[in-house]
Amino acid sequence: MKSVQEPVKTPRFNLLDYDRKGLEAFFVALGEKPFRATQVLKWLYQEDVSDFDEMTNLSKSLRAYLKENCYLATPEIVVEQIASDGTRKWALQTSCGNRIETVFIPEEGRGTLCVSSQIGCALACTFCSTAQQGFNRNLTTAEIIGQVIVAQNRLGDTKRITNVVMMGMGEPLLNFDNVVAAMNLMMDDFTFGLSKRRVTISTSGVVPAMYRLTQVCDVSLAVSLHAVRDELRDELVPINKKYPLKELMDACRDNAKIAPRRTVTFEYVMLDGINDSMDDARGLVKLLKNVPAKLNLIPFNPFPNNTYRCSSKEAINRFKVFLNDAGIVTTVRKTRGEDIDAACGQLVGQVEDKSRRHLKLKLVGSESAA
Ligand code: SAH
Repeated sequence: MKSVQEPVKTPRFNLLDYDRKGLEAFFVALGEKPFRATQVLKWLYQEDVSDFDEMTNLSKSLRAYLKENCYLATPEIVVEQIASDGTRKWALQTSCGNRIETVFIPEEGRGTLCVSSQIGCALACTFCSTAQQGFNRNLTTAEIIGQVIVAQNRLGDTKRITNVVMMGMGEPLLNFDNVVAAMNLMMDDFTFGLSKRRVTISTSGVVPAMYRLTQVCDVSLAVSLHAVRDELRDELVPINKKYPLKELMDACRDNAKIAPRRTVTFEYVMLDGINDSMDDARGLVKLLKNVPAKLNLIPFNPFPNNTYRCSSKEAINRFKVFLNDAGIVTTVRKTRGEDIDAACGQLVGQVEDKSRRHLKLKLVGSESAA
């Protein structure tokens, strides 16, 4: 008998690329009912079942279709570093061989995961080490939610991810759809169930995307301000040339109306002799007067080939006291994971290959109390 070669079909759809709405549309397009989305989310994220044959409440024909056309893939951990303060940094490898970094920061009563949204970054902020890599590509939804899945698996049952901040590599609002779908998944009751107060997106100020975000997703917003004058902000955060401070502050006011705590958090990196004078502090008070704002001062983390220095402890403290006295709730970000370069702006891949597979789709339940 003549042998006939079966055409080998590669599964086309990574089911981790879909949030609930996306999955509903996917099933409706197959002639199925939208509630299949909930059933599949439950199997994947709550029951830890990744074999389609085991999804017994789906019809046999649907299971067969999923088996043939769908797959589940997350990035894989290739390097793990654990700092003396318990902070963990992972280098994850995507299917095309690129590497991204994810950081877990344990604190009293909570665990925050810092998630990347792009490979590299196009925004060229002068004090940020990711900017030095240039831009490679957007991460897929599966690669973004995959960071949470892989990190929680690795942490096991003892340490729970209670908060996610989109503050890793990249500008999340320039990867809008994939980031929003991943954040929807983080907040879905049938997946991680994080509250919108515990999911934060940080942006350098992509103004049109900020308005769009306000319309579709009410997570917490953090804005990388770093300067109170356009001239200086143009230099530190070059996207300011396109969307200057006035436009940025209008977009922040718009977002504050729906923000979980009706507040926008402003991040302000403390650069010695650049943006840390009392004039800058007064400028901040003026700028933030009409925005419900919290301020987070970030000590600058130096990295090679960069001439900025971090403001002195005294300067940071003086700044903080002045702003608090002026009625703006101001905190100083603790630098964590210093011995493994896990701090802000340090997520530039210096990795070695120690491949280990941690792909099991074991997920967490809902968040602990706020
Ligand atoms: N692109 C997003 C997320 C980036 S990282 C944004 O700009 O908000 C999160 C924060 O770390 C931003 O506020 C960023 O400005 C800050 N950051 C970057 N490099 C830093 C460095 N070397 N030291 C301290 N903070 C830094």
